[in-house]
Amino acid sequence: MFNLILFGPPGSGKGTQSEKLIAKYHLKHLSTGDLLRSEISRKTRLGLEAKKFMDKGHLVPDEVVIGMINDALDNNRDVAGFLFDGFPRTAIQAEELDDLLAKKNTCIDVMLALEVSEEELIKRLVKRGETSGRSDDSNEMVIRARIQEYHKKTATVADHYQKVNKVVMIKGEGTIEEIFKRLSDEIDRLMKLDNCV
Ligand code: AMP
Repeated sequence: MFNLILFGPPGSGKGTQSEKLIAKYHLKHLSTGDLLRSEISRKTRLGLEAKKFMDKGHLVPDEVVIGMINDALDNNRDVAGFLFDGFPRTAIQAEELDDLLAKKNTCIDVMLALEVSEEELIKRLVKRGETSGRSDDSNEMVIRARIQEYHKKTATVADHYQKVNKVVMIKGEGTIEEIFKRLSDEIDRLMKLDNCV
């Protein structure tokens, strides 16, 4: 299996690049944001509860997203690997993910971290809000709150994987194809190694 975390602040291009990467490497895409939005559109209890946090730009409680990921791992046993997008976002989520993968005799091979300037992030998110229909993209206050949550809680997740030397920084500015090539070059290099021994 090859398991990768595509990491970066909101608006860094994780969604766009994930789509291209899963097509190229046949990985199962697990985006907690997408899973939560699907719960919201189906008006499930989990979705209605999560929406309260999401509308303010806050993180949904750890146990909710960990439960969703646990189910998704169990429901996708025969895949080439997973691409985690928007997860893990807290140190606790990272620890839980490591444990869940260890139980399946696998691990995170790499965290590819997209770096984008704050100015560019806000520009991209405001633009996305004009067409995405996402309520958390349409208000600059909420956008700023999400970026703050990222700095307050999520950036520490990189420290977790840095300790085991699994973080690779990728410049997240340029054209979609340029960024995709940077990511693919790293994946091609790492796929030749066995990082889970
Ligand atoms: P995203 O689509 O990844 O930008 O996520 C949209 C929103 O969903 C975030 O602002 C959070 O409120 C929530 N969310 C997504 N993934 C997570 C996660 N791993 N932990 C907590 N909240 C999450």
